[in-house]
Amino acid sequence: MSIQNTRQLHVGLIGDPVAHSFSPRLQQPAFDVLGIPARYELWHTPANQLLERIRSLCEPDCLGANVTIPHKEAVLPFLDRIDPLAARIGAVNTIVHQDDYLYGYNTDARGLLMALHENGLGALYEDGTIDLTNYNALLLGAGGAARGAAFALAEAGIKQLTILNRHLERAQRLAAELQQYYDQPIFSLNDAAFLIPRSPLIVINATSLGMHESVSPLAPEVLSRLDSDSFIYDMIYNPTQTLLLGQARLMGFSASNGLSMLLHQGALAFTLWTGQPAPLAVMRMALTQET
Ligand code: NAP
Repeated sequence: MSIQNTRQLHVGLIGDPVAHSFSPRLQQPAFDVLGIPARYELWHTPANQLLERIRSLCEPDCLGANVTIPHKEAVLPFLDRIDPLAARIGAVNTIVHQDDYLYGYNTDARGLLMALHENGLGALYEDGTIDLTNYNALLLGAGGAARGAAFALAEAGIKQLTILNRHLERAQRLAAELQQYYDQPIFSLNDAAFLIPRSPLIVINATSLGMHESVSPLAPEVLSRLDSDSFIYDMIYNPTQTLLLGQARLMGFSASNGLSMLLHQGALAFTLWTGQPAPLAVMRMALTQET
């Protein structure tokens, strides 16, 4: 898809629901500031309309799409090519329409690494690789977002990864999948009482706990056992401060919400659609003004 034209182009978010999404606020100003004649739209898509929606991405004026809950896994069979990391993760959040083909990517994974790096964690090399070999991680959750996080952390060389999830089998399955590709020790737990924290530790909340009500996926007694140099990252960005983040900050830990991940996954998607560097400052400003 060439963007060197003046025709109105389209790109959008495929999901169910989509109305709550921050993606249009993030993406539209980026297209506008670069003078790209594209509209970022919300494409509410129930499961029984998914195939039809994916087919519509092949129209000449379509750049592609973002994909959100509940279709990130379901879209894979409908695409022509899947990026290797997205294939391992088993989830696509960005589709690019190029030369009549649909390509699937997962920018959530790298978006998380960029967010961690922005918070001072890990080294960013010239080739774009992010290195977390000096860190251990505690990943809360084993759902879609956690899968992306787990593969991203393993790919970045994390020293040791512990996956803590309510349903142990899900954490075990994810650990076993990761272990097929990566050598680092990966543990699974469903009870934080058995956690042996290893410093320096990055804690990532990839559960939905804290989004709808004021509950935390990690009890304060567990937080208080972590070394003071631990970093707490909550993928949730709405509310901007979850109970987990509030308690972590009260205990003196460095902590951040998921807005930075949202920003970076969106910026990476923008570059995939347009072939141009994303105007990160504009996108960041748009996000912070709206929250
Ligand atoms: P998901 O696939 O539905 O997974 C939900 C996870 O939360 C599972 O691990 C689940 O555990 C756990 N969970 C849910 N309710 C629980 C409860 N009552 N007690 C204990 N554990 C519970 O959702 P997802 O797509 O991975 O999304 C997870 C979160 O990440 C959401 O808040 C989402 O907004 C956020 N997210 C943020 C970004 C960003 O850019 N910042 C990107 C993607 C996702 P079980 O396996 O035991 O059910």
